[in-house]
Amino acid sequence: MMAYKEIVRNALRTFEDLEKWLAGRKAKVDPRLKDVIAKYPMRVNTYYLGLIEKINDGIWKQAIPDVEELAYYMDLSEDPLDEEGDIPLGGPRTIIHRYPDRVLLSVSNECAMYCRFCTRKRKVGDDQKNPSMEDIRKGIEYVASHEDIRDVLISGGDPLLIPTHRLDEILGKLKEIEHLGILRIGTRVPCTWPQKIIEDKELIDVLKKHTPKTIKEPQIYINTHFNHPNEITKESYQAVKILRELGIPLGNQTVLLKGVNDDMDVMRSLVHGLGSMGVRPYYLYYADLVQGTGHFRTEVYKGKEICRSLCGNTTGFLRPVYVIDAHGGRGKVPVDLGFSDGISEDKKGGTFTSPIGLGKVYVNDPIERIEGKRKKERGRLQK
Ligand SMILES: *Cc1c(COP(=O)(O)O)cnc(C)c1O
Ligand code: SF4
Repeated sequence: MMAYKEIVRNALRTFEDLEKWLAGRKAKVDPRLKDVIAKYPMRVNTYYLGLIEKINDGIWKQAIPDVEELAYYMDLSEDPLDEEGDIPLGGPRTIIHRYPDRVLLSVSNECAMYCRFCTRKRKVGDDQKNPSMEDIRKGIEYVASHEDIRDVLISGGDPLLIPTHRLDEILGKLKEIEHLGILRIGTRVPCTWPQKIIEDKELIDVLKKHTPKTIKEPQIYINTHFNHPNEITKESYQAVKILRELGIPLGNQTVLLKGVNDDMDVMRSLVHGLGSMGVRPYYLYYADLVQGTGHFRTEVYKGKEICRSLCGNTTGFLRPVYVIDAHGGRGKVPVDLGFSDGISEDKKGGTFTSPIGLGKVYVNDPIERIEGKRKKERGRLQK
């Protein structure tokens, strides 16, 4: 058995595992956590567990079950983004087709660690619901028969948890589809189980095999998921470096989580860490309204405040776009950070406030300017 496999094999999974681990830290386990774990599976692998520095820190909160998960909130649902509703009618269950030109292909319900705040809490950790290879093949056929699709987001669960020969088949088949320009793999493995990437040579060979050799082949991107600066370690750096050396561009999405990263200093050190790793922040998600995750939800303005503070105070390309995934599957909506409140299109400018200061902008409509110039030229010709 390879060492990286032991990391997940020895994960905390049962109430008894948790009890034992807590006892080792002289903490008592709440008996109600038994119900929490029965409802929402737990898996805290030994690597991620080792990142916990103290009780209730930003790592603990992401991984260790909380009785709050049983709290019921009126506005929360199991599937607020109505992902089930975007499965094509009568089509493969592995496809979520929300946007015209890109689809999500779900290939796994398993992850290296089950995040307590997961949007797909209704599905993950349930091996029974793991998509079959037959359904995945149907999903790929769906993509092949829809020429408008140019981007496939391979997701789950975590696509890097499936057997490597399956991933090989999926990437190989998708690569053959001529209308695809982009293949994205959404995975938390570089963050929660970097040893998989460091030690599993077979996986790296498969990724290498499918990275494009010409512009005709779709580019492979990896979108990963770091939420806290303590997740940036020498192991995660090494994993990211291996992927970068394959020529795979990496982006990161972060979920805004109460008590984890709803803090300007934490977020700044997270994006700086990502910058040093060569991973570009992509989205900062407002936490979706998912049943069992209500205690992670912040006010919307929190994310706005954090992004405003990053604006002007750090490298422009290290700023994620703050988005709210609209209820009912209406897609991601960028939140207006409110810098340009005083600037309107019908006025010639307005005021703005940025972290650097208060100021005025003058809007000189370029179309008007060109028109004016033309008029002048015309006038000259007529003379
Ligand atoms: C987020 C998402 C995508 C990808 O959206 P981008 O804004 O291009 O990253 C595609 N399909 C679904 C269902 C999604 O939720
Ligand atoms: S890795 Fe992603 S899909 Fe898996 S539990 Fe965490 S947030 Fe959910």
